[in-house]
Amino acid sequence: MSGLHLPQRVRHHAAERPDSPAVTWGNTTLTNAEFDQRTTRIATALSALASGRGARVGALLRMRLEGAECFVAAAKAELVFVPLNWRLPAAEAATIAVDAALEVLIVEAEFAETAEAVREALPGLVVVLVDRASEEILPEAWTWDRLAASGSDTDPRLGDDPDAELLQLYTSGTTGAPKGVVATHRNIHNEPKALAIYRWRADSVALDALPLFHIAGAGWLSTCLSAGVHVVLLGAFDARHVADLVERHRITHAFLVPSAIQMLLDLRGLGDRDLSSLQLIAYGSAPVTPALLRRAIDRLGCAFVQRYGMTETTGSVSALTAEDHDPAGDRTYLLRSAGKPMPGVEVAIRDVATGADLPAGVSGEIVCRSRNNVAGYWRRPDETAQLFTPDGFLRTGDTGHLDDDGYLYVTDRVKDMIITGGENVYPIEVESVLAEHPAVAEVAVIGVPDRTWGEAVTAVIRVAEGALPTAAELVAFSAGRLASYKKPRHIHFVTALPRNAGGKVLKRRLRDELGGSEVVSS
Ligand code: ATP
Ligand code: MG
Repeated sequence: MSGLHLPQRVRHHAAERPDSPAVTWGNTTLTNAEFDQRTTRIATALSALASGRGARVGALLRMRLEGAECFVAAAKAELVFVPLNWRLPAAEAATIAVDAALEVLIVEAEFAETAEAVREALPGLVVVLVDRASEEILPEAWTWDRLAASGSDTDPRLGDDPDAELLQLYTSGTTGAPKGVVATHRNIHNEPKALAIYRWRADSVALDALPLFHIAGAGWLSTCLSAGVHVVLLGAFDARHVADLVERHRITHAFLVPSAIQMLLDLRGLGDRDLSSLQLIAYGSAPVTPALLRRAIDRLGCAFVQRYGMTETTGSVSALTAEDHDPAGDRTYLLRSAGKPMPGVEVAIRDVATGADLPAGVSGEIVCRSRNNVAGYWRRPDETAQLFTPDGFLRTGDTGHLDDDGYLYVTDRVKDMIITGGENVYPIEVESVLAEHPAVAEVAVIGVPDRTWGEAVTAVIRVAEGALPTAAELVAFSAGRLASYKKPRHIHFVTALPRNAGGKVLKRRLRDELGGSEVVSS
């Protein structure tokens, strides 16, 4: 089973191609041999600081060298790496750190305040600072150099138990509080067949622009390191910096979330940039519009691969391959699809109420079964029990359907589906219509309790600058384009939509806030 193990993949590349570049961050590049050696030193040092196998090592790090080193080092030492979302307020990060029972926290100076809150909540926590080791910031913290120097060159464990835990990530907290998800080597590992969608070559150079604390980021890093390609780490996300790195390192592959693709396309002066080295952009983590995809394909001219997944599935339920992105062909409708199930993943659509299997073309909850699904949540037995169907399928909490050719379409969240007068309404359909109105900059559609209808379709709208639409005008606009029961019964204008740290709209907060709203149409 050694092929499943990230540390052994790293060791393999160090033996086969010791002098090839493994990781670049800023002006530092480590070769395969150096990366293997350094991660062993850090692994032995971390082993000495932690209580034993399975101990949790947290991180508050951007996409930087120490993050990649720490991920592999923890795996070598059979410790569990817990990257924390540094965008969270300090108190929330501390709650997660306590939930995970962190023993060590690796942190960059910029997040010292959050680290301080974590240390207050977790007495005995060992803090390691990776940069600017000034006395005022986190006194008594270890420095990264001291940590590396305290290690040795003897592998701590480098075991080959495929069921050893390697990573604990928290869900984005879109539908509830973030939940800890524990992934093993077996979960994270992708078969070569599954990796073929990325079209790796021996000289591929991959950009890592995603935070480690989301499965897409941790998964992409482990995919790239396992494949043995040269990984360039971005640091903080910035579209200009992405373009700089693509030019400087002749990047061939990148994983970007839809909002990052948008920012790259909107970058001033993009036309003067030489991004011709790009061969393939993988994207996913959030819904994407065909309009954005078409623009990206036109402008960037490389291949695109979409991934659909979630923390609990360690990232890989389905993929829309490069071949399926063919805007000039006769299957352009596929740009709305999240592709076909990955090799080894069974996907089914089930009735939300009865759990019965639904045929092609009918919407229900997407469920999936595969080796990549995790065993459950960390210390949440009730939610873990809820996560699986009696026949072992994982409930994604997303609604969607399969077409006759087996392509999956992800439409919404089960929790966001509106039942009004006994009819199911998928908010995304209503949102897509309202978004076409020129006065609408952003829109979220939710159901609010209603005496007559059970729930009433409610649109929350941020209007475009300078526009002054009336609620009645927007309802009239959608009336011509939607079945009557789907059109919004209430419209709310807001200055901003509440979003979580990952940029996803928090509909549960909107539902809480909008108990009673004025009826503008019936
Ligand atoms: P929480 O579970 O805490 O509510 P979350 O579900 O947003 O938060 P993640 O596991 O980070 O946390 O995100 C997974 C979700 O992201 C999926 O369930 C799905 O709703 C959405 N998603 C991921 N990839 C895609 C995609 N390609 N197209 C549409 N939606 C996607
Ligand atoms: Mg979720």
